[in-house]
Amino acid sequence: MTIPNVTMAWCQHHAKCEWCPDHIETGMPLVTVFFWNKGGPDHKGFNIKKYYHPDCWTGQGLDYLKMNPYVPYIRKKKLELTPEQAKLRYVLLNRKASIDQRKRRLNGNPNKAMLEAELNVRIAELMVEIAPVGGIPKKWLVTQP
Ligand SMILES: [Zn+2]
Repeated sequence: MTIPNVTMAWCQHHAKCEWCPDHIETGMPLVTVFFWNKGGPDHKGFNIKKYYHPDCWTGQGLDYLKMNPYVPYIRKKKLELTPEQAKLRYVLLNRKASIDQRKRRLNGNPNKAMLEAELNVRIAELMVEIAPVGGIPKKWLVTQP
């Protein structure tokens, strides 16, 4: 992959513009574009430097955009649930929260391990129920200490 790096500076030595037939004169604004390629196991890396008049840099950029017309970026809706599904999801989220609370209260209980295992089974059942109504929330999948 080639990564371009664009800088603008005063031209120190006159250079040939990549875009138009003119040279960029010393003391004029100069756009320098470095393309660098890190290379890989099958090819050597390389660096390319190209010079542009600032207007030419803009011109070639706009030309590129003209060839690649604007496409609006559509954000994917997070959840698309019917009101019934949304209600069910809400109920399941609340059940999970109350199970988490019960788990936290187990500290010091001599039957902690057994009771905790039971509650984990309940959570697994809730996961099966919530999966079709918006998916399993990510934080459910994180084991809490
Ligand atoms: Zn130019």
